[in-house]
Amino acid sequence: MADKIKFLGTAGARIVVAKQLRSSGGTWITLDEKNLLLDPGPGTLVRCVKNRPPLDPTQLDAIILSHQHIDHANDVNIMIEAMTNGGFSKKGALFAPLSALENDPIVLRYVRGYVNEIHIFKEGSSYSLGGVEISTPLRHIHPVETYGIVFKSSKYTISFIVDSRFFADLITKYKKSDLIVINVVRYDGKGGKRMDVDHLNLEDVKKIIKGIKPRQAILTHFGMTMVRSKPWEIASQLEQEIGIKTIAASDGMEFDLTNI
Ligand SMILES: [Zn+2]
Repeated sequence: MADKIKFLGTAGARIVVAKQLRSSGGTWITLDEKNLLLDPGPGTLVRCVKNRPPLDPTQLDAIILSHQHIDHANDVNIMIEAMTNGGFSKKGALFAPLSALENDPIVLRYVRGYVNEIHIFKEGSSYSLGGVEISTPLRHIHPVETYGIVFKSSKYTISFIVDSRFFADLITKYKKSDLIVINVVRYDGKGGKRMDVDHLNLEDVKKIIKGIKPRQAILTHFGMTMVRSKPWEIASQLEQEIGIKTIAASDGMEFDLTNI
């Protein structure tokens, strides 16, 4: 299997998800022969089976939640069921913050027995899945317990900088990344409602990419103001301005990791 990232969806925040202006299908990552599914929002299973060629959930090795918000976790139960062949073939791992299992237990208790292992994310922890190291160097600032996730394979270090309010550690803790995939919910910091201020805007993202200096950055998880502002144009302007290869993810986009 070639190392790749498949964006089953690129929607972020409530309205884009509720109206399905972008799909909210999460991200399928293939690294060192392992298949990992990150943040299976609403529609993930449908997006997997409708993909050409279809993505077979029984081929997954792990399902990972950065946090329990519905745009990140809605399909976690059906994806665990699909990964384990309806619960008949116990396999795979689930990674999630404790909050997703206890405070707002979005993972149903009866499906928890279908997986071989449940790993609870903590700040500074790392786990290995075959040759892939999965680590959570930083708890983000978000209304619920949330961690950014770093995948280190034999060839690449890929950081998913998920939902957060901006703070300087977002730069220092992800410094060694070859590739960053970053959730850009907001175009600017204006007019934010209480919950929205705990999301990154374009200015924040610019600071983060400039600070980390990865070989490449991919923008995703767009809220309404980003969708309206044409993310592909924003990405190319950003690339010109800061001199770091930057693209905007689109629904169904497959990113071949040999490109970085
Ligand atoms: Zn969130």
